[in-house]
Amino acid sequence: MSVLQLLLRAFPQPVSGEEMARNLGLSRTGIWKQVRALTELGMQIEGRQNSGYRLLEWPDQMHPDLVRHYLGSELVKEIVYQPSVDSTNTLAKTLASRGAEHGTLVTADEQTAGRGRRGRNWFSGKGIGAYMTLLLRPSMPSQRIPMLTIAAGIAVVQAVRQLGLTDAWLKWPNDVWVGERKLAGILSEMSGELDQIDFVIVGIGVNANQLEFPLELETSATSFRRETGSNVNRAELAARIMDNLSEVLPMLSSADIMPLISLYQEYDRLLGNQVQVKAATEDFNGTALSLTRDGALVVRLKDGSERVVLAGDVSLRPRNLA
Ligand code: ATP
Repeated sequence: MSVLQLLLRAFPQPVSGEEMARNLGLSRTGIWKQVRALTELGMQIEGRQNSGYRLLEWPDQMHPDLVRHYLGSELVKEIVYQPSVDSTNTLAKTLASRGAEHGTLVTADEQTAGRGRRGRNWFSGKGIGAYMTLLLRPSMPSQRIPMLTIAAGIAVVQAVRQLGLTDAWLKWPNDVWVGERKLAGILSEMSGELDQIDFVIVGIGVNANQLEFPLELETSATSFRRETGSNVNRAELAARIMDNLSEVLPMLSSADIMPLISLYQEYDRLLGNQVQVKAATEDFNGTALSLTRDGALVVRLKDGSERVVLAGDVSLRPRNLA
């Protein structure tokens, strides 16, 4: 138990300092210090001489106690939280190299150097997005990593849909979009050998309560708040994503990958449509056909030949956008 857990449990009622001290085996000063630390994180806590402490509003932070409050599954074993971090992926990697266990989740309210693919930046404003990285030590070959990214994307789409953003879709290979705007991005990174990975980290950044974006993202990004008109609790969002992921992950280790591919198809908008592909060595147009077992995109060209796209930027061609 912690001070925050007691306050959450009692919300909106107060908990007396004496009861807290007794429950937690701390002095009254010890309690006061913890309350002060929580208010420094931005939580609204009132302290009154005769009634004790109470939360004035339900907090919206990526704090472990809050994420745990919403978690229903067992996938997440430990939560490491930093109000502000350079990148949750970078911190997760450091923790992994020091032996952190499978199921360690890193959360933050702000990233000062959030990353996307190929060194691109991920804009991670303070208190408005959900930033998290899950460390896994799965026994699978590295070819399965793209599928892991897709599994994480499915979990994100499911979570935002469950919370009310019903038209979110998964854009192969690592984004979640609403309409033609990006809502969330996923960045998986691994360490290990080809046939057996040591660890993989799955970084997820979701635009939650942004009303505005930096100029360069103004027309390409969106947030839960912008789409639905309401705020989403970021800890709840993180917990939903983890709960969904805990259901999807077993599909990844199963010998039969088809159920995962079928699930992907439910949330995809590329398959069957005309797409434009910018791959490492060439650009081409074609029809997105399917996913391979390893999560690559199969595209049929005009001349009937097929290309397998492992990684690349794929966009829907304008005639599909109407
Ligand atoms: P893209 O979808 O832009 O072709 P990508 O899938 O490789 O690229 P990522 O590498 O996952 O994208 O994300 C980085 C890119 O996303 C940045 O170059 C920027 O254009 C855009 N971006 C950065 N921060 C955000 C954000 N918070 N919300 C939406 N888009 C963002």
